[in-house]
Amino acid sequence: MSEPLRVGITGGIGSGKSAVTERLTSRGIEVVDADIVAREVVATGSPALQKIAQHFGNDILLADGSLDRAALRRIVFSDPDQRLWLEGLTHPLIGESIARQLATAKSPYVVLSSPLLLEGSQRNFVEHIVVVDVAESVQLARTTARDNNSEELVRAIMAAQISRNSRLAAADTVIDNSGALTDLDQQVDALHEKLLNLSAAR
Ligand code: ADP
Repeated sequence: MSEPLRVGITGGIGSGKSAVTERLTSRGIEVVDADIVAREVVATGSPALQKIAQHFGNDILLADGSLDRAALRRIVFSDPDQRLWLEGLTHPLIGESIARQLATAKSPYVVLSSPLLLEGSQRNFVEHIVVVDVAESVQLARTTARDNNSEELVRAIMAAQISRNSRLAAADTVIDNSGALTDLDQQVDALHEKLLNLSAAR
């Protein structure tokens, strides 16, 4: 049997990537979540976390030795140089882990879900790009309702991601998640059929 088709799913913060991938997981599709991988590489006691503490000081750690993500976010989303430093450390480690997981997937197609799929080299991991799209006002409203983040921080995160138009220009398939979750269900059904067909046709 040939290898599973590698599908990338991306979209801005709060666009509904998780809502889409949860629905694919329940259909038996393996999903590699770049956000989870990004947390794993800086897990408590990891070499990368030690380097982060050396660079930013031990104040970046919580009392239990884990990373204070809120503090780190505040630093890197207000200081581009620090963000570059952090990415230089973590992105290669994240890439290695993603490559390993994609290579061992067993489902008919495999999904890489990543907010940064189109920003760097992650797009090279995938053969088909799905963009989950909503207006920026919807992104902002859904993200602030979901997370305990300020509107200002969410706006800074959005500003650091590529624009909605660039994302749409890179899409092989677009999921419009501006409607209700029942609309999303129907689109995910169609997406799943399409990806099964694409994978089978290779
Ligand atoms: P992402 O993974 O892209 O950051 P999520 O899938 O977590 O986005 O969606 C952001 C928030 O919006 C979540 O709380 C989710 O439950 C909610 N959400 C997603 N899609 C819809 C929708 N179509 N209608 C209403 N709420 C939605």
